[in-house]
Amino acid sequence: MFLTRIIYTSTITEKFSVKDVDDILDEARSNNRKKEITGMLCFSRNHFLQCLEASRSCVNEIYHKILNDERHTNIVLLDYNEISEREFSDWSMAYIPNSDISEAINLKFSESSKFNPYKMSGDSAHKMMLALRDNLRVET
Ligand code: FAD
Repeated sequence: MFLTRIIYTSTITEKFSVKDVDDILDEARSNNRKKEITGMLCFSRNHFLQCLEASRSCVNEIYHKILNDERHTNIVLLDYNEISEREFSDWSMAYIPNSDISEAINLKFSESSKFNPYKMSGDSAHKMMLALRDNLRVET
């Protein structure tokens, strides 16, 4: 089955509270290890930006679950591609909090220094996540 990557963005709902990020990461990391899904989740203010890499069937299956999750809404697919190699193979789900998303990196990859993935192309979102990855330590 082909290795596939998706990148989407979404907005938190009233059902979301900040402590949900820890729950989402715990659940994601545990499920993703079993399903050999790798990726990165960025969360800043109201928005998520997530990259998921896995077999095409696993990516589609998890994306459908995520679409139904009432903790977020307005889910917009920014990028869907067959890929030849993983870029987040060291992380079952790397996490980038608001504090790590600087104005400088927003300005480099979007029209504004504010984090707003709805205003980014799939290519810019992808490149921004790679730049954020390069400052991360490998998961242990
Ligand atoms: P169940 O827990 O039975 O979920 C059933 C349904 O309820 C699913 O549609 C689920 O989305 C929804 N749901 C679950 N918990 C809540 C809640 N507290 N509030 C509202 N709705 C809820 N899961 C992963 O495995 N890997 C990921 O990488 C991943 N990334 C995520 C990123 C974001 C931004 C969000 C919001 C969620 C993410 N999740 C991820 C969680 C995912 O949506 C599912 O909750 C999880 O996969 C378990 O789904 P389930 O159907 O197996 O179990």
